[in-house]
Amino acid sequence: MDLDALYQQLIIDHHKNPRNWGKIQPADREAVGHNPLCGDKLVLTLKLSEDGTRITDARFEGEGCAISTASASMMTEAIRGKTIEEAKAMFEAFHAMATGEAPPDAERLGKLAALAGVRAFPARVKCATLAWHTLMQALAGGGVATTE
Ligand code: ZN
Repeated sequence: MDLDALYQQLIIDHHKNPRNWGKIQPADREAVGHNPLCGDKLVLTLKLSEDGTRITDARFEGEGCAISTASASMMTEAIRGKTIEEAKAMFEAFHAMATGEAPPDAERLGKLAALAGVRAFPARVKCATLAWHTLMQALAGGGVATTE
C-alpha cells in the first residue's frame, strides 16, 4: 500500500471510529483547541503519572472535520504511556512533517508518519496540527489553543 492510500484509510478509519473519545474526570491537564479557519474544536484531557513526568491517559472530544478528528485520535493513541519529553519531541517532529519543513521522522512518529499526506493540502495543515497544539497548551497548564 502506498502512503497516499494509507493516509486516506487512516483518516477514514479514525474519523468514523475515534479512539480515546471522551473526557477524563478529574483530569490532571485540560485544554481546548480551536481552529477557526475550518471550525474544528476539541477538548483534550490528560492523566499524568504521580511524579508528573508521564502521560498515562489521554482523551478528547469535540467537533471537527475528518482530518482534525483523525489526527486527534491518532495522537491520543501515540502519546499514551509516553513521557512529557517524548510527547514534546513527537510534537516537534509532527509539526515539522505537517508543515513540510522536514521529511516524516518515521522512527519518532510511527503510524503518524502517514499523515504526511496532509502536506499536499496546505489548508488542512492546521486541522492536522490542532490536537498537537492543544496538547502543548495542556502541558503548559491549560487554556485555549488557537491556530490563528
Ligand atoms: Zn478541519
